[in-house]
Amino acid sequence: MKRLLLCALISSPLIAKSPKNFILVIGDGMGMQQIKLLEYYLNASQQQTKNQFHRLDQNGKLFLTSTEAYEAITTDSAAAATHFAIGMMSRPGMVGLKYDGTPQRTLLDDAKKRGMSTGFISNTRITHATPAAFLAHQISRKMDPEIASDIIQSGVDVMLSGGFEAFLPKTVNDQTHSTYKQYRRLIPKERAVQSARLDERDLIREAQNNGIAVVFDHPTLDAANALPILGLFSPRSMDDVMTGASQQNHSPRAPTMDEMTSKALSLLARNPKGFFLVVEFGQIDWAAHYNDLGYLLEQMIMTNTILSKLIDWVEKDKDTALLVTADHETGGLGFTYSSRNIAPSFTLNQTKYEPRYSHGQETMLLDWKKQKRKGLSVLKEFLALDLQARKAEAMKKLVNDSYPVKISTAEATLLVRTIDSSGLKDYRDMESYDQFLANYYNGEIYRFLGVLARVTLRDYPIVWGTGTHTSNPVASWIYGFPSAGQYFKGIMHATEVHHGIRKVLDL
Ligand SMILES: [Zn+2]
Repeated sequence: MKRLLLCALISSPLIAKSPKNFILVIGDGMGMQQIKLLEYYLNASQQQTKNQFHRLDQNGKLFLTSTEAYEAITTDSAAAATHFAIGMMSRPGMVGLKYDGTPQRTLLDDAKKRGMSTGFISNTRITHATPAAFLAHQISRKMDPEIASDIIQSGVDVMLSGGFEAFLPKTVNDQTHSTYKQYRRLIPKERAVQSARLDERDLIREAQNNGIAVVFDHPTLDAANALPILGLFSPRSMDDVMTGASQQNHSPRAPTMDEMTSKALSLLARNPKGFFLVVEFGQIDWAAHYNDLGYLLEQMIMTNTILSKLIDWVEKDKDTALLVTADHETGGLGFTYSSRNIAPSFTLNQTKYEPRYSHGQETMLLDWKKQKRKGLSVLKEFLALDLQARKAEAMKKLVNDSYPVKISTAEATLLVRTIDSSGLKDYRDMESYDQFLANYYNGEIYRFLGVLARVTLRDYPIVWGTGTHTSNPVASWIYGFPSAGQYFKGIMHATEVHHGIRKVLDL
């Protein structure tokens, strides 16, 4: 009897085995409508590009993730990513800490303990909230220098992103100093050598002394062959796809998200005990904070491209589980219907069909693929003009040259008023916009971008509800290792998703 049972156990395919590798994809701010934006665009564009979320759907398992933080309905990215990282509730602003302020082990720590190699890549900066939640333990996400110090002690094998200013000693801010000259030789010339530290600690040197290879450009990353490796490709955030395509300040020597992903996979996959890689698409959130539809669309298209590579990789490997999720939704993006631009009536089955509203069609997204620049770039260019030149006509030209729609002089005047210091306290002309401004960060950038979005979207049934986050649950998929699906179902809080991942990997 005993022997029979043993035989049955050995031959049973139901015995839960852990996958060798795990890839966690976090689309920062990627709610369901952000995913739908991609879908509508791909449908309208009639290209052969496949929607990778459909692939996840066909062969993976969908569940929803709820995102609330401790004593907070609507989370920020710090608490949200900390929930995934430590599996306990945290407070907005905290990274790698439980809500009571105590540091906790992360998924990456425990994967490491199992002998797996670990990695984190992000197109933001490595000290930003989402990476910091997995790589550091601090009371505030704003403590970049302290987070950087935690990062070089994290034991994580591959870390690729932007943000070297938190690692360089403050002496580099003095261009006559030898430290400045030393880093000027190492860092691509298009990048400013600058420090955000208030002390003389040189975390690059400390990392190297700990055996971590540090690289600042794509060719050096490409040639790198050993772990651990820290790649820091810009002083602060990495380039975005739009700026990279259209402006000279893009560094051809910085790797793309695609190149970082491929390199991370090839380095990590050498470990016979497997790897745990986190990939963050962090600029979906930034585009949505800016209420910038064209920028968001570019980020979603880029996300789709890299998901395609990851899914291909997982399918080929057959021993990897892939979990695609988001930390929260950003922007309260909505497709809606409106009473502007109602389509003409027509006859159907000998009866007149009369549309009462404009309900939106997928082809309208083709217009937004034509947005040439980010709203933020428009603002920067306007602010770079001489004071006398900062007039409505100049604004009108900038917007009309960059956007798929034409704005009027009156609308341009409104936009100028959002940044004109004489108009800052006087919103009488902007009464209809007043209500939403509280949901935007302080500062002229967000006031301007919030109004710009509403002005340029006026003829489209597309709305932004906020300049920050919403508490909408987000879509998530587990893919690639069928038995992993049993741990994910229904609506799970992000902390429960953490525990699901632990079960999958038997951590
Ligand atoms: Zn955000």
